[in-house]
Amino acid sequence: MRRYKNSKLLIIKKPKDFNCDNFFTEKGCKDIINLKLCTKKHRILYPNNSQKNYDLSSPIFAIYQKLYDYYGPQNWWPAESDFEVIVGAILTQNTAWQNVEKAIQNLKTYNLLTPQKLWAISEKKLYPIIKPSGFYRLKTKRLKAFLDFMFKKYDGSISNLKNQKLSILRKEMLEISGIGEETADSILLYALKKPVFVIDAYTRRTFSRHNFFDYNTAYSKIQEIFMRQLPKSVKIYQEYHALLVKLAKDYCQTKPKCSKCPMQHQFLKIRNVLINK
Ligand code: SF4
Repeated sequence: MRRYKNSKLLIIKKPKDFNCDNFFTEKGCKDIINLKLCTKKHRILYPNNSQKNYDLSSPIFAIYQKLYDYYGPQNWWPAESDFEVIVGAILTQNTAWQNVEKAIQNLKTYNLLTPQKLWAISEKKLYPIIKPSGFYRLKTKRLKAFLDFMFKKYDGSISNLKNQKLSILRKEMLEISGIGEETADSILLYALKKPVFVIDAYTRRTFSRHNFFDYNTAYSKIQEIFMRQLPKSVKIYQEYHALLVKLAKDYCQTKPKCSKCPMQHQFLKIRNVLINK
């Protein structure tokens, strides 16, 4: 048993089922690789005295752990480059991913998947190329609007975007026509590796079905609930969002398959914990 400086928690041992070594491995998270758990209070302590205590009894994190144990890493976003992630995030609005894949493949075939080339091509020439993703006129405008922003403010460079502070970048991106919160956060998280959690319709559906919040709760409110209860980690945010998409497609569909769902017991367990608190 140990007591860390400035901590009121008793550090006992790491539970067998906590596979933190698998996902706290990215650069920048070294301060939490050696984290210890208090099995009494179920809290994670950041031993490097960073003062960031994290509550493991957090329902949101417990669900992540269960999902990760069940499915394993999803390694999202499916793309060969950061710019491809940006294009995919804009094209995927209101359409199935298979349609986006066709449009992306067309862009690759015409060797257009670079910021410079996509910025240079005329809107009319782009229409038939991205047509499989649907709403192609609107999406062409949105792609062009993003590229205008990227070239005017960041010299067309992904590295320059990455070097900007998250809060500034997010605010700027939300001012681009057609870029809403979900699209902006997808780009920030998956292309630019910024620690921001993406909220989509699947997340709303799954968690509102378990009364974590109402389906129509504001995006920022839901995002705050997730980010408050999770360690600040790009890797965890990426995996969690991807895992929720997987769960929604497999089980938490429009008509949910609760009796077969691997999360049913976990959600029930959490509900009981919350009721008995
Ligand atoms: S399918 Fe699973 S996650 Fe969705 S409501 Fe049923 S038990 Fe919950």
